[in-house]
Amino acid sequence: MAERTPRQKAWASHGLKEVGRAVLRRFNSEIRPHLPKCNGTSRSTGEPCRNLAVPGKQKCRWHGGAVPSGDDWHKMQYPAATSKDWQRKLNEKLKRAERNRRRRERRLEKMSPEARAKHQEWQRTHKPGAKAERQRRRADRKAAEEFKVLAEQPERIASPELAALQAQAAYLEAERDRYRALAQAERQPTTGAFD
Ligand SMILES: [Zn+2]
Repeated sequence: MAERTPRQKAWASHGLKEVGRAVLRRFNSEIRPHLPKCNGTSRSTGEPCRNLAVPGKQKCRWHGGAVPSGDDWHKMQYPAATSKDWQRKLNEKLKRAERNRRRRERRLEKMSPEARAKHQEWQRTHKPGAKAERQRRRADRKAAEEFKVLAEQPERIASPELAALQAQAAYLEAERDRYRALAQAERQPTTGAFD
């Protein structure tokens, strides 16, 4: 085992391990029960997630609590100009973004054509944007899908009410055609004056 650092020695010799355990025990028994929990569901067990929610969010970080929120959640946030070492932070951020971009590219290259098509379709239908905008698009998609289902299977959704309405519509259309024909006949002179 490597030589212990002075810090590790102090930690062991002053009983700090026990102090740390006691603090954690107290936190778990007295404070944790009062903190907001994640409202997500565990995918493996189907049980509610019991992790602490990220402060100000309703989810733990494993269930999306760390995803930025607000209308600009999908845009890169730059360090504040008032930050002491904004230059270093900015450089790191840009470097990370570039690395992630290259990773995405490599992943796309490795995909099979079908998987890539599926991925691109998902990207096309899941454009990032402000919450209201995404909700509107989702509602539009849902309405379009419902309409498609209705248009494709008219006889399967024939409820008694719909059948009655369709019968009435057919009757009205027939009546309209009959009156039109009558009106047409009336307008046409049976014998022209200059025939
Ligand atoms: Zn969770």
